[in-house]
Amino acid sequence: MSSPSEDPKPGLPDDFDATAMRERYRAERDKRLRPDGNDQYIEVVGDFARYLEDPYVEQRLEREVLTEDVEVLVIGGGFGGLQMGARLRDAGIEDLRIIEKGGDFGGTWYWNRYPGAQCDIESYIYLPLLEEVGYIPTEKYAFAKEILEYSQKLGRHYGLYEGALFETEVTDLTWDDEASRWIVTTDRGDTLRARFVTMANGPLNRPKLPGIPGVEDFAGHTFHTSRWDYDYTGGGPLGGLDRLHDKTVAVIGTGATAIQCVPFLGETAKQLYVFQRTPSSVDVRGNKPTDPDWAASLDPGWHKQRMENFNGLVSGVPQPEDLVDDGWTDLIGKMIRRFKDAMQEGAPDVPKILEMANFEKMNEIRQRVDELVDDPAVADKLKPYYQMFCKRPTFNDDFLPTFNRPNVELVDTDGQGVERITEKGLVVAGVEYEVDCIIYATGFEVGTAYSRRAGYQIRGRGGRTLEQKWEAGMQSLHGMQSHDFPNCFVMHMLQAAFTANFPHLLEEQTTHIAYIVGHALEVGATKVEVTREAEEAWAKLIIEKGAGALGALGGPECTPGYYNNEGQERDSSAAQAVPYGGGSIEFFELLAKWRASGDFEGLEFGRSEA
Ligand code: NDP
Repeated sequence: MSSPSEDPKPGLPDDFDATAMRERYRAERDKRLRPDGNDQYIEVVGDFARYLEDPYVEQRLEREVLTEDVEVLVIGGGFGGLQMGARLRDAGIEDLRIIEKGGDFGGTWYWNRYPGAQCDIESYIYLPLLEEVGYIPTEKYAFAKEILEYSQKLGRHYGLYEGALFETEVTDLTWDDEASRWIVTTDRGDTLRARFVTMANGPLNRPKLPGIPGVEDFAGHTFHTSRWDYDYTGGGPLGGLDRLHDKTVAVIGTGATAIQCVPFLGETAKQLYVFQRTPSSVDVRGNKPTDPDWAASLDPGWHKQRMENFNGLVSGVPQPEDLVDDGWTDLIGKMIRRFKDAMQEGAPDVPKILEMANFEKMNEIRQRVDELVDDPAVADKLKPYYQMFCKRPTFNDDFLPTFNRPNVELVDTDGQGVERITEKGLVVAGVEYEVDCIIYATGFEVGTAYSRRAGYQIRGRGGRTLEQKWEAGMQSLHGMQSHDFPNCFVMHMLQAAFTANFPHLLEEQTTHIAYIVGHALEVGATKVEVTREAEEAWAKLIIEKGAGALGALGGPECTPGYYNNEGQERDSSAAQAVPYGGGSIEFFELLAKWRASGDFEGLEFGRSEA
């Protein structure tokens, strides 16, 4: 690196050159930018729909076709649907059905059973409703099996199995204005006439495949990580993939999923090739079993307090202590320390402080690669050159050392991705790697239309779809309700909030929705709808507040990925399809105040004769 151009700060080497590092970051981004953005990925439809098949259901459930009325229909049986169901039960709602395409509750944790799958937000704040259910996770970072079992426990605790429709997909949602009901059809031929519908489809529910030329030509075995094929690999979620001992396996992708499953593949595969386009930042995991004395010492209210403490820290709001104390909060700690130092020295230059703290953190991440990977050439390729939070940070103690194994090879594609797939394998820089199996660790759709990811259209008053309405710019109140779509509630981040700990957002949203639905039922209203004025005012506020938290994640200067719309500029209508720019803390306070006022500002409650 050339001579230092700015004051090095504690935590960075004396010869650290910020200008050169900025240039390096920019060059890494530029070489990855591609004009096709989200269109580079293949939608899993047609022949590719096989990647969506459920490998975990042994025998398809047979049941009668339903035609009936239901008070509240919840779509999705993951954490969102379970939290929604719990809050609706708390509000005294009995007539409730959950529709779920999987064979059981669990959502993300139903589908993602790949070896090593584990929550990477501390389980004591990630798992919802712990105090209500009276459960303490067994480890700081619980593995998928425990989380799936906890989801089932939630289902039992709140009586949500009654009325649950598993292995069922919604095919259409149409509002009947006269009857004030949603007509919901499913792939089982059901027709449900629901008074209220709440949608908890999940933010990362639809697997995507890379549009690599020749992707359909490969003659060997393939699957996506979210539909792990244990029949092929042997073993289970805790490893022991014994059927791979004579197999050459390719993994495409090095995101949070690959980081967790690669160590288990490396352990047993005869030969493993890991195809990398952009390295992840891989920080210390440091998992540990739950200390029973600590668990016994927790006071009532601890769960919410811990969630809020974490959310405060990762939102940059200083807290009296760091209860979670992990890789997520460490960067923020660094920023706050630097900020305090700068305050003592005089007027602080905030953006510079944040950047320097980020450099410091990423330097640590790169140093860790050198410490854990023996071959310096391989280590160099595994080092991420972008700002922390350009991509989802990852945490794992086994991923990097896996590259010291003689049977594991990193195939770095210099930011370009796999060049071609052939009948026998994968091509990078003109070299063909012959393999028996390709595992796609290529993630999930993010930037595509809500209805495409949901798998059905939502037709409001007059037959117009939500997609059509939002094409010209998203309009909602608090991200959850939209005019012409009465009695319908959407749970997602847009026009709502971004939280690193997603179940925290779900907790606030489900509390809010249950409050509105509970009130409607209490006063005998059959219809609750946002006024046009209220949603216009909310959209205006969203634009005024700017990208906020989402802007802090994956800005345009970042390497492309789903945090920054694959590096593509968003069109002007997308300026209002962002989380609330004031941040999640402000958003949650705003919702709480709105509820506390009791006047349901912006909503109209009505009654139909039907
Ligand atoms: P990601 O979208 O994060 O990663 C996909 C990977 O595939 C990236 O490394 C990407 O490279 C790579 N890729 C895409 N196209 C190509 C190509 N043509 N050639 C080579 N590589 C390619 O998906 P994940 O499933 O890893 O994670 C998705 C999200 O799920 C995470 O961000 C996280 O939010 C969540 N998750 C959470 C976990 C938890 O513990 N709670 C665990 C796992 C996932 P590039 O970066 O260059 O685009």
